Amino acid sequence: MAENCPKLDECPIFEKFSGDAAKQIWTRHYCKGNYEACARYQLSLKDKKAPITLLPDGSTDESLTAD
Ligand code: SF4
Repeated sequence: MAENCPKLDECPIFEKFSGDAAKQIWTRHYCKGNYEACARYQLSLKDKKAPITLLPDGSTDESLTAD
């Protein structure tokens, strides 16, 4: 059974994407599934803060902003 990412409550990407039907594929695949493969999660394991533009697959989306 898929587990939720431990970063769910503090991750800005999860917050942004979970309210957007078109982007919920990300949260289903990563945040509530294969979170160990998420580039943001992997950075957090190294105590590094992921830039807001970093997507779970390691690509970037410059349209993402902090607000
Ligand atoms: S985007 Fe990555 S770090 Fe953020 S909640 Fe989803 S799986 Fe976790």
